[in-house]
Amino acid sequence: AVAPVPMTVDTTARVKASAVRGSLHGQALISRALLNRVNQIDSDSCSPGGEDPFFVADIGEVYRQHVRWKLNLPRVEPFYAVKCNPDLKVLKLLARLGTGFDCASKKEMDLIMSLGVPASRIIYAHPCKASSFIRYASQRDVRKMTFDNAEELHKIKRYYPEAELFLRIVTDDSESLCQFSMKYGASLSHTADLLQLAKELDLNVAGISFHVGSGAVGGKPFLQAVRSARFVFDQAEAIGMNITTLDIGGGFGVDNFESIAEVVGPAIDELFPPTVRVIAEPGRYYVASAYTLACHVIARRELPRPGNYMLYLNDGVYGNMNCILFDHQQPVVRALTHGSRYMYGLPENCAGPVTASVWGPTCDGIDCVTRECQLPYALDVGDWVYFDNFGAYTLSAATGFNGFNDNCEVLYVCSENGAKKLMSE
Ligand code: PLP
Repeated sequence: AVAPVPMTVDTTARVKASAVRGSLHGQALISRALLNRVNQIDSDSCSPGGEDPFFVADIGEVYRQHVRWKLNLPRVEPFYAVKCNPDLKVLKLLARLGTGFDCASKKEMDLIMSLGVPASRIIYAHPCKASSFIRYASQRDVRKMTFDNAEELHKIKRYYPEAELFLRIVTDDSESLCQFSMKYGASLSHTADLLQLAKELDLNVAGISFHVGSGAVGGKPFLQAVRSARFVFDQAEAIGMNITTLDIGGGFGVDNFESIAEVVGPAIDELFPPTVRVIAEPGRYYVASAYTLACHVIARRELPRPGNYMLYLNDGVYGNMNCILFDHQQPVVRALTHGSRYMYGLPENCAGPVTASVWGPTCDGIDCVTRECQLPYALDVGDWVYFDNFGAYTLSAATGFNGFNDNCEVLYVCSENGAKKLMSE
């Protein structure tokens, strides 16, 4: 089994200062890796696909996000949501840091356990599971699993009566980027019946869970959901059940994390005694900012209106930009190279006098990255563009439609010595 390394958390000011330094160092490493790579590629002579898109991932950024988590939500144990980005390097680092993992399928459970992570550090966080997967979880001793309906309880009774069940409740996710509550979560008018049924079936309800939707706007939906969870804890206690764990799900963003933590942390402390274990299932929070995608401009069409172009990239919505359709992201196109000019991180990079629509490589009209963006220059065939904050729900759902590469290469850099050390052990 992978031994987690206990993390000592430093004072806020020191950690913040070192986070800023680390992230600047990370950007420098990413920039160097991007430049080295694009300099190696000669589209006049490279092998077919030699100019394919590629990622640069800063594993140090994942490490920093973990430190930030520990600092702001020390009571809450993260179980990383594997679906968000199952990159082995990320999983290995998090396994070494001692996080748990939220798995949604047999494959994800296998992946995590192949790293030596014990089953006790996995939650099978899917309220509607295939019977064969429940049987598999039983064989592998993955006990923690969610449910939100009566039929699931009957299935679990049949295939894994010893499981530790988490009742997932519905939340108000109306303002989140991705909403789940129309599909999952028991309403508060059904929770009493479900708890009663679990009791009659002699099943072990160990926790209450929720998910406020991926990409939540701030602390408000979490606050409401924590209160709802308290209500269901009380319902369970009233029928003699002892619920031991609260699972506050995912939904944490990179930019709004502190604003969520400062609401949710105190609410948990106020409503749940220290004896209640609190876990979460963050995905996006850990990986979004660690990945930068570079794409090649493979074609260009000049439109009759001056300064108007259509640019065609070698990645699009069937590839890593599936996040436009599935995750409602609006990627910002930035110039990486223009002719011989290297433009990573330049302030003038974004807006400019040129208007372009940007398209992916497949033959489908839906394969559009953006209908309109402003660029500083008329990028040309052979130039490169990049997309930062691109680690969440991108490479995990890319397809090989039209024969384009669904297995994008990732180059790794590491801006944190702590992470380097863990990865080398
Ligand atoms: N937990 C569950 C059950 C989910 O469905 C998801 C995302 O789909 C997550 C956690 C991760 O959410 P996020 O990436 O917003 O943190």
